[in-house]
Amino acid sequence: MTDTLGVTTRTTQEDLERDLRQRVDGEVRFDDGSRAAYSTDASNFRQVPIAVVVPRTVAAAAEAIAVCREHQVPVLSRGGGTSLAGQCTNTAVVLDWTKYCHRLLSVDEENRTCVVEPGIVLDDLNRQLASTGLRYGPQPSTHRSCTLGGMIGNNSCGASAQRTGKVVDNIAALEVLTYDGAQF
Ligand SMILES: Cc1cc2nc3c(=O)[nH]c(=O)nc-3n(C[C@H](O)[C@H](O)[C@H](O)COP(=O)(O)OP(=O)(O)OC[C@H]3O[C@@H](n4cnc5c(N)ncnc54)[C@H](O)[C@@H]3O)c2cc1C
Repeated sequence: MTDTLGVTTRTTQEDLERDLRQRVDGEVRFDDGSRAAYSTDASNFRQVPIAVVVPRTVAAAAEAIAVCREHQVPVLSRGGGTSLAGQCTNTAVVLDWTKYCHRLLSVDEENRTCVVEPGIVLDDLNRQLASTGLRYGPQPSTHRSCTLGGMIGNNSCGASAQRTGKVVDNIAALEVLTYDGAQF
């Protein structure tokens, strides 16, 4: 049944909003302004989201996904939103990783690896790595705003990828959470 959420679900906006607000540590936005702001990316596509969640932690994002799963509502992750083919627009609960989940967690200079949260912007990462002499290789021309999460989603490249390889060639490990709750 299609209800006020605008998608076919077995829940209502009121129930979804209540559970997201009660259980998720973060900003939960159902207002028209926020939904309009997240309705497009760098493409020509426009899909107004059901809501926007800005989780304060990765665990909070996982909880938001659990709530959406229980309500059978789709989710969509968003980094810098610079995608060119509508990857960041959908009638879904949009998770914005950029505001809080953007830390460089550790650097292993010897093995030339680091651990990051997905909302970190590429230029911010490379600025923080500068003192080590290391940098993350693939550099899309949106490097000032694209995030590692979004780069992984798109398998980004850019001019430097001729030398460094694409993102797929520069990932040592991923922590993955699927919609059905599997974590690996
Ligand atoms: C002017 C311009 C120039 C560009 N130049 C290049 C270029 O040179 N090379 C290139 O490769 N690309 C280029 N792009 C495309 C785009 O900028 C890159 O692909 C960029 O890396 C996307 O990063 P983002 O953070 O904006 O991703 P987003 O657009 O936010 O997301 C990309 C995808 O990843 C998913 N995603 C985001 N975060 C997560 C997460 N935490 N977990 C799971 N999925 C997630 C999203 O749902 C989406 O499907 C360009 C785009 C523009 C507008």
